[in-house]
Amino acid sequence: MKRHWKYTDIPDRLWRDWRWQLKNRFHNGSDISKFFPNISEESRRDFAAHVAKFNISITPYTLSLIRLDKKLNPTAVDPIWRQFKFLSPDELRGDGAYDGVHTNWELSKEMPTPILHHKYPGRALLRVVNSCHGYCSYCYLTKRTLDVSKKLRFAASPAVWERSLRYLRANPDISDVLISGGDPLLLPNDALEKILSDVAAVSSVKTIRINTRALTFNPFRVDPGLAAILKKHRVTVLEIHLAHPNEITREFDSALEVLDKGGYRPLILWRSPLLRGINDSVATLRELLLMLYARRIVPYYLFHNAPYSLGREYYGTSVKRGITLMKELRRVIPGPSFPRYTLFHPTGKQDIPLEAGGTPEFRFCRDASGKPAVKFRNWRGRSVFYPDR
Ligand code: SF4
Repeated sequence: MKRHWKYTDIPDRLWRDWRWQLKNRFHNGSDISKFFPNISEESRRDFAAHVAKFNISITPYTLSLIRLDKKLNPTAVDPIWRQFKFLSPDELRGDGAYDGVHTNWELSKEMPTPILHHKYPGRALLRVVNSCHGYCSYCYLTKRTLDVSKKLRFAASPAVWERSLRYLRANPDISDVLISGGDPLLLPNDALEKILSDVAAVSSVKTIRINTRALTFNPFRVDPGLAAILKKHRVTVLEIHLAHPNEITREFDSALEVLDKGGYRPLILWRSPLLRGINDSVATLRELLLMLYARRIVPYYLFHNAPYSLGREYYGTSVKRGITLMKELRRVIPGPSFPRYTLFHPTGKQDIPLEAGGTPEFRFCRDASGKPAVKFRNWRGRSVFYPDR
């Protein structure tokens, strides 16, 4: 990979060290002119406005994937750069914008502890850390990961962790546990090993999933030690998030090879939001899905951009637009590489039917002020409302 000019002298030994990548991130406190010396006044203002409220973090590795123009500024249309967009005050407003109040996913009644989310029968989710290798400016968990006023950097104190384990033991119907965050692979191997061994020791837990963005924001995190831990605790699934084909690099492939060489490659499932100006075209999605398919990565979810996420105004598309894309996509890729198109609703995820006019159970409508919306029957059989764009 061609490195960002700032890092050309860094020895390979450091460059390939995931901790060095973390320590040297571009972040809220960075002097922007040291990374982008010719950045416009407008971008500086947007950066200042954004970091006053939300976290920004980009590893040197990810910065190096961003195409620069002749002035060494990020190219405005670059699909990686757009994922870290400094949102201007205008882009922080709008229908369904993040307001720190509305929830798009976590309901307090489903959280027996601050880190354990039990929404569906048979499975539970543990959010073991609230930080990430890099911060996507569209995160649907904005309150946990991005909002600086929430001060939720660490998710699990020892007491909360013990309470969460007790809950798992007391609810033996939970056989599948998703370890998520933020990004659990931000934790060092010994901390991760403790988490996995504690969860695996709950006799009713039969399968463990880990959700991560590390393979694309910091692929050096996948080291032989991590592969050994996944093998030892027989982690069933790695759910990986990446949004654009440019994130599939030689380093990404090397991370997969480390898992292969470790002799235990979990089932790898892909997920990403549908993001305007990043992956909302048939050509981009086709390229991405075929690249994943060739690597034996199963396309799991393409998520509709969730209301009350940061950057809803900038990244969001309409459900109808997503359906059009999915219908076209289905004709041009092999069946096993075709994901589910799904939306987040506080009451549970909902697969979106691909009938253009909706179905009796999934209807397009308008809210009281005439804005596009969707009504559907959720997995509990209740009719629920969803603000669209
Ligand atoms: S890596 Fe995942 S949890 Fe972290 S900011 Fe991005 S979308 Fe959110």
